[in-house]
Amino acid sequence: TAAIIDGKSIAGEIMSRIACQVWRMKESIGRVPGLAVIMVGQRRDSQTYVRNKIKACEETGIKSSMTELHGNCKDDEVVNVLSRFNEDPSIHGILLQLPLPQHLDEEKILDVMSLEKDVDGFHPLNMGNLAMRGRQPLFIPCTPKGCIELLMRSGVEIMGKKAVVIGRSNIVGLPTSLLLQRHHATVSIVHAFTKNPEQITCEADIVVTAAGVPNLIRGNWLKPGAVVIDVGTNPIEVSILQKLKIEASNCKHVETQDPSCEYGYRLTGDVCYEEAVRVASAVTPVPGGVGPMTIAMLLSNTLDSAKRAYDFT
Ligand code: NAD
Repeated sequence: TAAIIDGKSIAGEIMSRIACQVWRMKESIGRVPGLAVIMVGQRRDSQTYVRNKIKACEETGIKSSMTELHGNCKDDEVVNVLSRFNEDPSIHGILLQLPLPQHLDEEKILDVMSLEKDVDGFHPLNMGNLAMRGRQPLFIPCTPKGCIELLMRSGVEIMGKKAVVIGRSNIVGLPTSLLLQRHHATVSIVHAFTKNPEQITCEADIVVTAAGVPNLIRGNWLKPGAVVIDVGTNPIEVSILQKLKIEASNCKHVETQDPSCEYGYRLTGDVCYEEAVRVASAVTPVPGGVGPMTIAMLLSNTLDSAKRAYDFT
């Protein structure tokens, strides 16, 4: 069976290293990195993500500030808050929690973000620099960066390998495919309009999936020995999840005790885990795989930004 890539423990190691560096910065120049988080509206999933990010800041000594805007607010209000943080020298990273409510112009608002504080790496200039050979983005988007870190820290060679990325969103799929190319993989992209996705996927040595569809990747989609990184974080009703698991594993006993189980829902990935572990050589679990790495990379980008601002090495 496949090795389990323990994102939680790898992220823990990275966070300890960040905490040491934050402490060193404080001791030598009396400054700490600052992260401003802006949340618009009250999506429950966004609230959970934001809470986890702020908690992680506290654990590493990074100063965090949280601004909550009403779900009905106008573009200008978000732009004003963003501009204020752009000017604030104690803030080195600004995180605008996405998605924004439908009525807001996400593109226009993201354009306002200072390039030097775009720790999510979603500014078009950062993304463009990621895409172009020979150029260096100031920040690499956190989830894709976390996926590559997981591969590298698990000793998976990327250079020359065939990789398939499932999903092409600006947040995950697209930057992940760009980043894998930077690491010299041969990359195919599978998306909602791809015909016979399983035929493409089963040629891959590395599969990164970010489709947001529970149980999409079945065992027969995978090449034996493939490494599977499951970005999917899909809330699913426990009763439906049990049904999927019974179908997949053909077994009577199904584990129902799960600490992530909240309000009758729990999180599941895009990969049919029970089948993948029998075919793949390594798999990330959900939860406990990519999720904690995303947060660790956000803190790492914020620390890098502060080091750049204070010319601190
Ligand atoms: P999105 O909806 O913006 O994009 C989904 C992509 O998947 C699209 O490009 C679409 O074409 C493709 N897709 C949809 N159905 C498909 C199918 N049946 N076959 C092939 N491709 C298909 O989503 P997103 O923001 O990129 O997020 C994707 C998933 O990753 C979600 O489950 C999200 O919750 C999760 N996510 C996790 C983290 C983390 O830190 N772990 C971070 C961001 C997103």
